[in-house]
Amino acid sequence: MHNSLFIRDLLQRTNADPLRLDRRNPHRAIAVDPLAKPAANEFAVAGSWRIECTAVEVAEDIRDFCARMGIRTGIDGEHALALRVTDELAARACRLSCDPSVITVEGGDLAGLWAGVAWLEWEMRTRRGAILPAGAFTRQAAWPVQISQGPWGGNYSVPDFSPEYLSDDAFRLYAHYDVNSMMIYGDLLCYANSAVLPELNFPAAATNLAILRDAAKRAARYGVQFSYCVVGPKLRAEHPVFLAHPEVKGAGTSLYPGQEPVHVLCASSPTVHRFYDEIFTQLFTAAPELAGLILIVGGESFYHCGMHVNPSHPCPRCREKTRETIIADLLEQVQASVRRVKPSAYVAAWAYNVWGWEHPERLPLVRQLPEGVAIYHHIEKDQHLRKDGYTKVIWDYSIDFTGPSDNMREVAALAHETERPLFVKTETGIGLEAIQYPYLPAMQRLADKWQRVRELAPAGVQQSWLFYGMFGSRAEELGLWAAYGGDMERDDFLRRMATRDFGPDAVEAVLASWACMSRAVGHIPCLSLPMYYIGPSFLGPCHPLVPEKRRQDAGEVQLLTPSQGAEVPEEFHAILFYLQELEETFSRRQTDEMKTCLVMDQLPDTAATVFMSWEGGGDGWDIVIREYARATAEAEAAWRHLQQAEPHTRTAQDKQNLREETLLTELIYRTFATCERTVRFLFARRNYEQTGNPTCREEMRQLAALERENALAALPIYRESPWLDLAERTDGKFTPCAEMIAAKVRWIDAFLEG
Ligand SMILES: [Zn+2]
Repeated sequence: MHNSLFIRDLLQRTNADPLRLDRRNPHRAIAVDPLAKPAANEFAVAGSWRIECTAVEVAEDIRDFCARMGIRTGIDGEHALALRVTDELAARACRLSCDPSVITVEGGDLAGLWAGVAWLEWEMRTRRGAILPAGAFTRQAAWPVQISQGPWGGNYSVPDFSPEYLSDDAFRLYAHYDVNSMMIYGDLLCYANSAVLPELNFPAAATNLAILRDAAKRAARYGVQFSYCVVGPKLRAEHPVFLAHPEVKGAGTSLYPGQEPVHVLCASSPTVHRFYDEIFTQLFTAAPELAGLILIVGGESFYHCGMHVNPSHPCPRCREKTRETIIADLLEQVQASVRRVKPSAYVAAWAYNVWGWEHPERLPLVRQLPEGVAIYHHIEKDQHLRKDGYTKVIWDYSIDFTGPSDNMREVAALAHETERPLFVKTETGIGLEAIQYPYLPAMQRLADKWQRVRELAPAGVQQSWLFYGMFGSRAEELGLWAAYGGDMERDDFLRRMATRDFGPDAVEAVLASWACMSRAVGHIPCLSLPMYYIGPSFLGPCHPLVPEKRRQDAGEVQLLTPSQGAEVPEEFHAILFYLQELEETFSRRQTDEMKTCLVMDQLPDTAATVFMSWEGGGDGWDIVIREYARATAEAEAAWRHLQQAEPHTRTAQDKQNLREETLLTELIYRTFATCERTVRFLFARRNYEQTGNPTCREEMRQLAALERENALAALPIYRESPWLDLAERTDGKFTPCAEMIAAKVRWIDAFLEG
């Protein structure tokens, strides 16, 4: 979402929603097991405790934690629980000193102190009661900057960051995972108050800067800073700024057929440099707590004349320069502006999509970046991954491939060799294979991916893109482990986590379930089926089966939609905010008008369309079917393990935690099953249309009956776990899942009766 201006009602509602507030509470699942006992060299935290801490938010948090753990606190408590910042420790580092009469939590800075709080909670909660190990323990962060996406239900898009859109509870959630930077995202023009290019001025720019300043100060109390991922202007040729200053008009191109070309600001224009200097100076002056800038220079976001490959209107000033030179020259200017105000702020260059670039391996870009500019790169994207009899193209983020990609190895080696800061982008809970869930409990695989991140020795890590807000999940907690828990083996950490959340007697079954899910995601044959929000990989059991070819709707511009989706019921259409990417800055077309059909309603001639390749003949759909069938079987086994764990939970909280994990796992199983059956169904339909063979029609009927059952079985999951309902998302406007399922069942019934 490039700005929050057009969805303010939605964002206010979701931020204040009691369901979201509860999910964002890091203490929501704290419970004490009455059977918990100290082991050797451990002690029970007994008696009354006085909290000594000058950081108000930390003191309040620890008081709430103690109350939930059954620890008595008060100003005249007999023992001291002291929390403080000390310059004896590095930034983000923490030290716990535990003794039956004094407990001390120290941090090298406020983020470190919050990390100390998180680890104190970890030590007690994994012992399932007010129990601590005796002694002193120091933990260091493996990298200085840890960036997360926006909070679930809270706003991350400029400019609305006042408390009704982004409340302090979100920062408190980050603090418990020791995320010390939150990514904010969107249109730079929201902050434009320029003497150089006054035609670009935003009426509320001063107010927006003040809101950002206040939000940054609120976040800082939780040890959190903002990292701003900047979206630059895209404007039509006759925009007043181009009429008044022809020299700032950069390359222009149409981003979809029929669109009037949109132009970027020329990256080589001294006027544009002065404009950026003004804006970034104002930003960092207003909000010195900003951690830095994430500048996507490949494919989208921070537009420049070298971004679009073969633009219809090349820039006359930049056309002789290489892409790398255009980017390097521009970033040199930006970094100088930022550093003048805040020398410690980072500027990171992210060549996200480089399709069509002359040097897609990104190495010339790394070499040419100005000194001090960080290189930002994804751990897994752009790899051709060899699988069982086929190759899966990892064209974006993946839960299957843990990385690092061949290109990441090269980029990281060059970054270290040339002493450039390396930022690693990863995903802690999902991949493009399933962007609709808060996480997939493929915990062993996710932990392995974090281990690969750690091995790259980054200076910063972004742990998630914006698909699903920070949720306070176990998957996200792996980020805390990765940064601080180098001494803890993967399986040891997972075992302690499972003990904490499900009880010691349920641990084996839960670990077995996670292992099954880790294998399941390794069988997903393509990143999405067929693309992003479209198809069964996103809609899961809500996805319908389309029994016959639909009529082509002539003349209508459809973006990424099925070619023949005109008669698909309204329930299966959605407004997708990310498509703002294709529009002029501040266009409302993709927030108010354009609906996209989310249905995979026919089978393309070959599975190469979902970015796979294979040796030998065939159209590849047999591989897709086989692999989704394997993924379904493993996910079903994961679900069964959790069902078997149910009688072994101890506390009511164990039961609830397990129930939530079971429902999520069941929905993932049902999603994979729908993926397999949708392809089978469309395959049979195609054969029927080509041959008229009644066996094919019969197979379609059998699959439809199975999918009817699958969809209806998913209904209670959405009811009981409303955060899984697509209608609760803030990246588009979707029909509630129950209504989609009703429409799907009606459609199947009509087919079966026909
Ligand atoms: Zn230019």
